[in-house]
Amino acid sequence: MAPWNLHLVNVRLPLLDESKLYELKGAGGRWMSVKPQPEGTVPAAGALKLPLLNGKPHHDGETVRLDLEGRMLLPGFVDAHMHLDKAYSLAKVGNRSGTLEEAVRNYGAAVPGFSREEIRSRIRRSALAALSYGTRSIRSHLDFNLKAGREVAMRTVHAALEVREELKNVIDIQFFPMLPYGLRSPGTEEALAEGFRLGLDGIGGAPHLSPEPEADIDWIFALAEKYGRPVDLHADESDDPGVRTVAHIARRTVAYGMQGKVTADHLCALSAMDEKTAGETIRAMADAGLSAVTLPAVNLYLQGRGDRGLVRRGTTRIRELLEAGIPLAAASDNIQDPFHPFGRGDLLQIGQIAGYAGHLGAPGDLRTVLRMLTSVPAAILGLEDYGTAPGLPAHGVVLDARSVDELFAEVPPSRWVLRQGEWIHASVQLRVWDTLQLAPAAQEGGRPAGVADSETA
Ligand SMILES: [Zn+2]
Repeated sequence: MAPWNLHLVNVRLPLLDESKLYELKGAGGRWMSVKPQPEGTVPAAGALKLPLLNGKPHHDGETVRLDLEGRMLLPGFVDAHMHLDKAYSLAKVGNRSGTLEEAVRNYGAAVPGFSREEIRSRIRRSALAALSYGTRSIRSHLDFNLKAGREVAMRTVHAALEVREELKNVIDIQFFPMLPYGLRSPGTEEALAEGFRLGLDGIGGAPHLSPEPEADIDWIFALAEKYGRPVDLHADESDDPGVRTVAHIARRTVAYGMQGKVTADHLCALSAMDEKTAGETIRAMADAGLSAVTLPAVNLYLQGRGDRGLVRRGTTRIRELLEAGIPLAAASDNIQDPFHPFGRGDLLQIGQIAGYAGHLGAPGDLRTVLRMLTSVPAAILGLEDYGTAPGLPAHGVVLDARSVDELFAEVPPSRWVLRQGEWIHASVQLRVWDTLQLAPAAQEGGRPAGVADSETA
């Protein structure tokens, strides 16, 4: 918690009212006041100075004052679906076909060879990468490979919980073990119960891969009820329109009264279904109070591998899910592993990819995409302290953009991350505003306005 007070002016808060500028005051690691400023001219933005000097906060007495010059502050991104333990494993685990099936097979074969420290270091690196781009909270699925033996499964669990403890002051992480499909045994339940005692949060899995998906789903819901845990499942990550396990997930959600506690991710097959079946499926999801997560980068990469000519996008029906009122988040999924060779843990990049994949680029759509990276996943994760309001923790990320349109067009590289009133990360690349001013200055032999500042900021 920061020992000094914060005072931010000319702040844009697009989740509140993008048209206004705000003045924010914080103390003791929390926001004390958040007020719209009187109407006035927006200041010309120059090269913004970090409130850091040689890595230490730059104080003006007891208060750190910063003029954001119209730049935006978000309460932080929330990544609702990652695989921190698998991230950066690509150098050791390849995937020649680029299919989901080969990725699952190859990772499963390799996982017994990963040491606890190796898994810890991958989780640490990927969580800190996400943090550096402004993510404050993560839900990570965890490999839980009981088919390779209990010790192998628990090694990943221990590594994950150790890193969570190590990073608890800078980022929040939830862990959902992926129950191995088709392994409905007392041994599986015992290992899961041990995981809950150690600190795992909910139940994950990919029952659409099981030879008996409905039996697996029934079992998962029975366990969720018995242990009082939320459910977050990989669902129908397939190009086959006949793969429709989400309908059964919806039925079980209603039967167990778990509305609002169940999330279905991927839903690629929904795009392959005919309009009528897709519509019925989406209505069943909405009626059951399901939340959903789209993973556009990974599914653009993995799906459509059997197609020739017009290759399908593989992402779910983003617009139809939104129109049905289903809380839909966009998330990272895999980073530089056999499932996805790209990605860097930057949800803003994922938002731009969601815009391409889902034809979401109109002004209203981009504001929806922003919510899919922030307030919607915050609700899915059950974060009660999310937002920028008096009394809430002074967490956030400052982005070098003055409108939501600009944010997704530029995907600005610089992010300043605020945690409990303390600047815990700041990338220093700043864009020079109004670059058209550069040419005349350069012709006169003078220093282009702002350039030196931006290089040294
Ligand atoms: Zn996943």
